[in-house]
Amino acid sequence: MNDYKSMLPEELAALLKELGQPAFRARQLFSWLSRGACWEEMTDLPKGLREQLAREGTLFRPEAARKQVSREDGTIKYLWRLRDGNCVETVLMRYQHGNTVCVSSQVGCRMGCAFCASTLGGKVRDLTAGEILDQVLFTQVDSGAPVSNIVLMGIGEPLDNFDNVLRFLRLVNHPQGLNIGMRHISLSTCGLTEQIDKLAQYELQLTLSVSLHAPDDGTRSRIMPVNRRVGVEKLMETCRRYFEKTGRRISYEYAMIDGVNDSDAQADQLAALLRGTPGHVNLIPLNHVEESPLKPSRRVAAFQKRLERQGVTVTVRRKLGGDIDASCGQLRRKAAQRDQ
Ligand code: SAH
Repeated sequence: MNDYKSMLPEELAALLKELGQPAFRARQLFSWLSRGACWEEMTDLPKGLREQLAREGTLFRPEAARKQVSREDGTIKYLWRLRDGNCVETVLMRYQHGNTVCVSSQVGCRMGCAFCASTLGGKVRDLTAGEILDQVLFTQVDSGAPVSNIVLMGIGEPLDNFDNVLRFLRLVNHPQGLNIGMRHISLSTCGLTEQIDKLAQYELQLTLSVSLHAPDDGTRSRIMPVNRRVGVEKLMETCRRYFEKTGRRISYEYAMIDGVNDSDAQADQLAALLRGTPGHVNLIPLNHVEESPLKPSRRVAAFQKRLERQGVTVTVRRKLGGDIDASCGQLRRKAAQRDQ
């Protein structure tokens, strides 16, 4: 069965050529697919062709199993039910510079970070490129808000699903599709060094965010099991190589956890770690996860000041959708528990 939503225009062209169709049909089809259309809506394609395509492949439309709208700031969180009944979350955030959609890349996650709700049940499966794309398309269709920015910061580790994520990037970036520029896309990783090196080879102009969360191996290994295989020093070397290859500054994410990674000494260590490495730090007030004993830090402002005094560029992430469980993994978890 063909998975049309995951197919690039040139692949659709090859398929349609085999069916004896002219080249412009592939452009028409790709453009319809990129708008989330169903077969009935594709009125400029011959009916016989649509019927044949429908017989030989799938065009699934995810269903919004839940939708929560924040009364505070208009953030919308969707829980999409996929073809096989699994659910993933997508968040639409409204900023002055445009609408940003935060997509999931896997059902669950196997990275095991201590503070993250997405990883509590482990990884169920990877999403296909089409399933990642559908989150953008149907968020746009349902909300009526045109999406201008994408962040791969939902459930899952994008670089643990490398090929499908790369394909997704090509699909949304394509001029005949959503045409979202790479500079409007951020990809967040817990720091899989081999895959960061692999990604660098493509020299994409997206923003790479690295979830650092601690400047020393002791703390980082405690909260992020991935660090037990490759420590902070190797990770930073990889980040420097990434910058050299792509010319893109890395954004380091740092979720502030009370008594774990928020001391003055750790701020100093972080500043030292980043010295001579182009990039900036994004401090994230920890979202409390029910199942976790970790608490949000009360030292965000002091930590920020201390970094700034040492020449580090720092931003603090604004919290959106606080009233709707908008941090990733929480809605899927609650829904799964309710459905049991
Ligand atoms: N797997 C990727 C992307 C998913 S999470 C990664 O690890 O980067 C996106 C960001 O949210 C990551 O920086 C992640 O560490 C962070 N995060 C996860 N749970 C959080 C929580 N409870 N509070 C604050 N940030 C959290």
